[in-house]
Amino acid sequence: MITVVGSYNVDFILKVDKFPEEGETVFAKDIYISHGGKGSNQAVSASRLGAKVRLIAAVGNDEYGRRAISFWEDEKIDVGYVKIKNAPTGSAYIIVNENGQNMIVVNRGANIFLLPEDLNSELKGEVMLTQLEIREDTVKKALREFNGLRILNPAPATLNDISILDYVDILTPNEVEFKELSGADDLDYGIEVLLKKVKKAVIITLGEKGALIGMRNKRIRVETMKVNAIDTTGAGDVFNATLAVYLEKGYEIERAVRIANIIAAYSTTKIGALGPRLEEVKSLIEEE
Ligand code: ADP
Repeated sequence: MITVVGSYNVDFILKVDKFPEEGETVFAKDIYISHGGKGSNQAVSASRLGAKVRLIAAVGNDEYGRRAISFWEDEKIDVGYVKIKNAPTGSAYIIVNENGQNMIVVNRGANIFLLPEDLNSELKGEVMLTQLEIREDTVKKALREFNGLRILNPAPATLNDISILDYVDILTPNEVEFKELSGADDLDYGIEVLLKKVKKAVIITLGEKGALIGMRNKRIRVETMKVNAIDTTGAGDVFNATLAVYLEKGYEIERAVRIANIIAAYSTTKIGALGPRLEEVKSLIEEE
């Protein structure tokens, strides 16, 4: 089983011709409302690949929270440990202009109320996957008390309590997060810095350039599939979910990263942040 500890947000995506100036009102051309938050995205993407997934997240006692829970149930996720808090369900307001640039405001809502004391007996399983969109003290307890393989996707890039890394087996930053956490531009040197804390490996995702695995005395570059990317939103979430799924199956890190690259690349050819179902991508990964 994969235990995901993380966030949920309802995403409101507004398309505009141009961003409003301060005090100005503009009309949106379109609105899309979707399920988001890295915890939810990664849990759903892992479940779609056939893994048993338990999600530990917090939603509000409102319509959005109820919809989130029913969405997870439809996606065959164990929602038995989802907490309902006396705060609004998290929401994100994403304004996208003509050039594809965005401005985002997030109301973290119930996500901030997922407390360390909310986590207890459920911290068991083979693999834990967590991110930094929830409180750091909650992330720390989750990692510290989990008895299986612990993956931290350090997104977004801010980490105040660096001692959290002491409880991580595999760290999966993208390039921006990697530079922020290691304080280094040089990949090789930055990996050395992070491996002083992280137990097993640092896997840096490099967009269309695939991924770089750093282990003690070893670096492995893993190329990804060439695709016509149309929406890279959530590529990192799909990568992390796939990595967790194949590590849970007992694959070696390099092989799991090869498959994570393929499925993340495939996901950029479709709109939306969620990954594909296993049936859809089975033929792509058969020989891996
Ligand atoms: P994030 O989405 O967190 O910024 P990346 O951009 O590094 O992370 O993407 C995560 C993974 O998704 C990459 O390691 C790669 O496997 C895949 N990916 C992302 N963009 C592309 C692309 N344009 N072509 C092929 N694969 C991609």
